[in-house]
Amino acid sequence: MYLSPEMLAKCHAASGCHMCKGTNLRLVLDLGSQPHSDDFLEEQRLSDIEFLYPLRLVSCADCGLLQIDYFVDPEILYRVNYVYESSTTKTGTAHYRDMAAGIAKHLSNPQGKLAVDIGSNVGVLLQGFKDEGFAVLGVDPAQHAARTANANGIETINDFFTVETARMIREQKGTAAVITGTNVFAHIHSLDSATDGMRELLASDGVIVIEAPSAMEMIDKVEYDTIYHQHIGYLSALPMKRYFEAHGLELYDVELQEIHGGTLRYFVQHPGARTISARVDKQIAGEIAAGLYDIERLKGFGKDAKAQRIELLTLLTDLKRAGKRIIGISAPAKGNTLLNFCHIDTTYLDYVTERNILKVGKYTPGTHIPILNDSILDTDSPDYALLLAWNFAPEIMANLKCFSEKGGKFIIPIPRVTIV
Ligand SMILES: [Zn+2]
Repeated sequence: MYLSPEMLAKCHAASGCHMCKGTNLRLVLDLGSQPHSDDFLEEQRLSDIEFLYPLRLVSCADCGLLQIDYFVDPEILYRVNYVYESSTTKTGTAHYRDMAAGIAKHLSNPQGKLAVDIGSNVGVLLQGFKDEGFAVLGVDPAQHAARTANANGIETINDFFTVETARMIREQKGTAAVITGTNVFAHIHSLDSATDGMRELLASDGVIVIEAPSAMEMIDKVEYDTIYHQHIGYLSALPMKRYFEAHGLELYDVELQEIHGGTLRYFVQHPGARTISARVDKQIAGEIAAGLYDIERLKGFGKDAKAQRIELLTLLTDLKRAGKRIIGISAPAKGNTLLNFCHIDTTYLDYVTERNILKVGKYTPGTHIPILNDSILDTDSPDYALLLAWNFAPEIMANLKCFSEKGGKFIIPIPRVTIV
C-alpha cells in the first residue's frame, strides 16, 4: 500500500502542546528528518522516494510535557504496513500476564466485568484479563493485529479509540471496570477525544491503567531511541496529573515497572473514588528534583545523545578498520531512530537479524539494511552484533547463544556503549 496525497497532506507541525495547548515549546534534541520507524521496506521499494519527517523532541514550558513537534498522519503510522506484534518476546508476554493479575487483585470481584484495552494489538494483555475472569474487548487500528486477535478469540474493534468508539462500546457492553493502554497513550493523536471517551466508558469505581516509558528514565539513561513518530508524548507524572484534572479525571497512583528500560504505570479514576497515594506527589517531586522540567538539564540530555552517537560510531569505525564483520540484532522501531540518527547503514552492518516474520526479508527504513531470519547465525559467524532491542538484551543474548559460543561479541548501545 502506498501513501496517498491525502495522507501526506495530514502530516503537520504541532500548533502547540499536545496536552495543555500551550505554545511555548522549547527544543531539546533534533534527531534530523527520519522515515516512519515501522515502515520496513520491501525490496521493490528501495529505489522509491522515501518520505522523511522532522523528528524533534521539545518541552512544553507550561505543563512540562516532553513531546515531538511534528505529526505523521496516524493512517500512515498504524494502518500501512504495521509490523509490531506485542507477543514477539517472552519478557513482554510475562509482563502483561502479571499486569492483568495485579489489576484483578486491585478490584473487588472482577468476575464478568468488562476490561477494555486500547491499542490491544494481538490481545496479549486481554488474554491475561480473560484468564482472570473478565469479559474483554480490544480496540486497535492495525488491521493485521486486530485480525490475529479476533482469530485468537479476543474480540477486537479494528479502529482508533475516540469518544465515539467509547460511546458505542458503552451502548453495546455497558461501562468498563478496567480500561488499559500500554505503550499507547503517548501515541494517540486525538488525545482529548480518547480521554473523554475513557471518562465516559469508565464505571464509577473503575480504574484506568496507563503504562508508558518513563520520560525521567529516558532523560537519565540517554534513551533517545525511544523517540520516534508514533510516540508523540514522553510522559511523566506532573503533566499527566494536570491533564487528567483538566478532563475531569484523577491520577491516584503511580508505579515504576522494569519493562522497556523503565516504564511508569499510571492509575486514573473518577475523582474521589479512592484515596490518592502519596506516591503521586513523591514521583512529581522526584521529577522536579531530577530536572525533568528544567530546560538546561533537558538540553544536557540532547548533548549526551550526540556524545553517545560519536562513541558508537567511533567504535564501529575502529572495528571496520580492523577488518571485523558487524551485524545488527533485532529490528525494533526504536532501532531505526538509532540507525538513522547515527547514520549507520550497510557501510557498517552487513544485515540485521529478526524473529518477527513480518520484518524478515525487508529492509530497515532510511538505512536500507537487509533483515534476515535469526537462523542465519546458525551458519554465519560475524564478529560483532549491535543489539538494537537492547531493552531485551538478556533474553536475546540467551536465545542467540550460538553467536557468542562461536566467539561473537554483542555491542549494547544504550545507556552506554558496551561490549559484552
Ligand atoms: Zn503543555
